[in-house]
Amino acid sequence: MWYNNILETIGNTPLVKLNKVTKHLKGTVLAKIETTNPGNSIKDRMAIKMIEDAEEAGLLKPGGTIIEGTSGNTGMGLAMAAVVKGYKCIFTTTDKQSKEKIDALRAFGAEVIVCPTNVDPEDPRSYYSVSSRLVKEVPNAWKANQYDNLSNAQAHYEQTGPEIWAQTEGKITHLVVGVGTGGTISGAGRYLREQNPNIKIWGIDTYGSVFKKYKETGVLDKAEIYPYITEGIGEDFIPANVDFEVIDLFEKVTDKDAALMTRELARQEGIFAGNSAGSAIAGLLQLGKSLKEDDLVVVIFHDHGSRYMGKMYNEDWLRERGFLKDKKLTAQSILQK
Ligand code: PMP
Repeated sequence: MWYNNILETIGNTPLVKLNKVTKHLKGTVLAKIETTNPGNSIKDRMAIKMIEDAEEAGLLKPGGTIIEGTSGNTGMGLAMAAVVKGYKCIFTTTDKQSKEKIDALRAFGAEVIVCPTNVDPEDPRSYYSVSSRLVKEVPNAWKANQYDNLSNAQAHYEQTGPEIWAQTEGKITHLVVGVGTGGTISGAGRYLREQNPNIKIWGIDTYGSVFKKYKETGVLDKAEIYPYITEGIGEDFIPANVDFEVIDLFEKVTDKDAALMTRELARQEGIFAGNSAGSAIAGLLQLGKSLKEDDLVVVIFHDHGSRYMGKMYNEDWLRERGFLKDKKLTAQSILQK
């Protein structure tokens, strides 16, 4: 038995029970480990869906060029799909991104344009402006636009949600997801709610991002916006893919707790996951007092730890940020906060 190409291996990721980091919580906690996708992240699912929907709509034509402002997991998914399907890719990114991430995209033959970080989005040199200009200038180009392209959430409505429902045999009571574009939580959450309206959908946000306050007040409060370290989640605007109707609440997690909990996942569970998995588990522990014995919680682990070797898996990096100074972060210390 074989697959016809690497894209056919996307999806059907495993659900794995956590046995130590969440042992002080009532209920069972399962991690949906998205690192087994071929691009090592959940973003493979939406990348291929955005491309196929654009093909169907006639927006992306044979031999065309895919353009996106990304350096991360979405770029990897798009670059991989582009190789198989015969498209070119041009990504714009910022000079704060690690060289490894940029090199990973170039490994797939993608062109990566590195733009300055410290300029306004409207500045012609910003990575937003450069990608918008390229779509106009490059012939036969299509911009994926993961924030506002609703094929993103739809991929999770069609795949991630049904997988979780089937794998838990409909017993899931809570879905916990770090929110960036909002595609994962909104698509998977909408599907699960349609199966059982009582399922709780909890979004994990970061300090420096607008989601939690927006959910609670309906106002985009600029005072909430400041630089943060956590990767993959939180935004300074509201993407079209975030469906606030589906999400019951948002919980904010600090950069430090997210980084330290990411490390605990490797040390205590043997799961080498990315930064947002640590955020999601730390957030669940903050919220977890309300859980009951027979609750079944599914937490999404979006990507792989190898993307963070220069960050939370590097002790010098942690020390420089003061993250190693205090006493050890444990599940109990979060629960006692
Ligand atoms: N974690 C990581 C590592 C990510 O790359 C992303 C995507 N930005 C997310 C979480 C959030 O997923 P979504 O964009 O579907 O909300």
